[in-house]
Amino acid sequence: LRSGVERLGDMIAAASIIVPFTGAGISTECGIPDFRSPGGLWTRNRPIPFDEFVSSPEARDEAWRRRFAMEPTFAAAKPGRGHRALASLYRAGKIPAIVTQNIDNLHQVSGFSADHVVELHGNTTYARCIGCGQAYDLAWVRKRFDESGAPDCTACDEPVKTATISFGQAMPDEAMRRATELAQHCDLFLAIGSSLVVWPAAGFPMLAKNCGAKLVIINNEPTEQDEFADLVIRHDIGETLGPFVGN
Ligand code: NAD
Repeated sequence: LRSGVERLGDMIAAASIIVPFTGAGISTECGIPDFRSPGGLWTRNRPIPFDEFVSSPEARDEAWRRRFAMEPTFAAAKPGRGHRALASLYRAGKIPAIVTQNIDNLHQVSGFSADHVVELHGNTTYARCIGCGQAYDLAWVRKRFDESGAPDCTACDEPVKTATISFGQAMPDEAMRRATELAQHCDLFLAIGSSLVVWPAAGFPMLAKNCGAKLVIINNEPTEQDEFADLVIRHDIGETLGPFVGN
């Protein structure tokens, strides 16, 4: 590990534009389970695809029940060493913006301005109408849910859903455009805590590499893209990035 962290330190020092790309693994030390590890969310619940959410009131109720069951976990989560290390590099001016598959809002909490967090899969800490996009806070949804089940938008009557991207739902255009641009114009791309199997998000590390960036993969399990990386650190993220937590 020591030599991996040292090499990472050298690469960070040499880089002027670093783009981190994070997945669920950076938040496991904060108590939020990832999807695919043993004990991960998928080993317990089959995901509800977008078309099922739209077409089935029962699916909407189930989606909201699951979300509320997770609320104590999300509410208690605080940024971990990985989040804090990246926030330090951001404050130091090395990171223009971060690209994340996470929906837990922890990069914002750790100090990134919301404008500098590119969320590929949305955010679970608030809700949106799937028709007109009107935002709702979860307390409002909870109250309506307790009274009469999964709520619809007060403006257009379409279902209200967490502001996340479900399987089968279109990717957010603006986030995809910004992530593409960031990957194309960095000199160091850090893929952290992602199994790199969810597409199109998993395409960004190779895009960065093909555009000339050095690629580092930090994940405790092998990924299919390890062979293309300049450095692979197959180790715990908190321990790996802890030394980079600054002021
Ligand atoms: P994933 O579950 O597919 O992969 C996470 C990877 O992180 C795994 O390979 C695992 O081995 C590794 N990992 C877990 N803890 C680690 C640690 N402490 N140190 C090093 N590695 C660790 O997650 P993904 O690639 O992000 O894709 C799944 C999707 O799940 C994403 O689209 C995301 O939207 C969603 N998701 C988000 C959260 C969150 O916001 N925190 C949580 C669960 C799922």
